[in-house]
Amino acid sequence: MKLETDIKRIEELSQQRDDENWDFRCFLKRADLSVAKIDSIVHELYREVSAQIDCTLCGNCCKVMQPELTAGDAKKLASQHELATNDFQARFLHDNEDGKGFIFNAQPCPFLQNNRCSVYDNRPRDCRSYPHLHKRDFVFRMNQAYSNCSICPIVFNVYERLKQALWRTRRK
Ligand code: SF4
Ligand code: SF4
Repeated sequence: MKLETDIKRIEELSQQRDDENWDFRCFLKRADLSVAKIDSIVHELYREVSAQIDCTLCGNCCKVMQPELTAGDAKKLASQHELATNDFQARFLHDNEDGKGFIFNAQPCPFLQNNRCSVYDNRPRDCRSYPHLHKRDFVFRMNQAYSNCSICPIVFNVYERLKQALWRTRRK
C-alpha cells in the first residue's frame, strides 16, 4: 500500500473517508479479536509506518494539536527557560478547560521552531506519547485514532493499513 505523507492530501482523504473510518471504528469495537491481538497488529504497523515518516518534515501535531501539560511538565519547561514556574505559566500557558493542568497559549506551539521542537528534551509527556499508537488498549482509544487520521500522517497510514488487514479482506 502506498505511503501517503502529503498532509493536504491526507486531510482531503480523511474527509472523503470519514464515514468509512467511523464504520471501521464501530466494526473493530465489535470484532471477534482480542484486545491484545489488535494491539500487536497496531504496534507492528506503527513500527513499520513511523520508520518511513520523518516527523521533522511534518510537525503538524505541533501546529494544530493542543497537548496537555502537567504541573511537572510546566516546571521542567520553566526551569529550561530560567523562569519561575508562575512566570512561565503567565507567559506561555492557559489553564486547561477541564481544570486539570495546562495547554499552550498559542497555536502553533510557541516552542516549534523551523519545524522542530526547541524544547525536545523537556517536551511534555503528552508530546512524547503522540500519536499514542505504541500504547496498549488501542480498541478502547479508537475515537482518538479516528480523529488523528486527518492530523498525523503516521496515524492516517496505520489506520489505512489496519482497515486493509482486518476489514476489507473479511468483507470480500
Ligand atoms: S513542546 Fe515541542 S513537541 Fe510539544 S507541541 Fe511544542 S514543539 Fe511540539
Ligand atoms: S507525530 Fe505525526 S503529526 Fe506529529 S510530526 Fe510526526 S507524523 Fe507529523
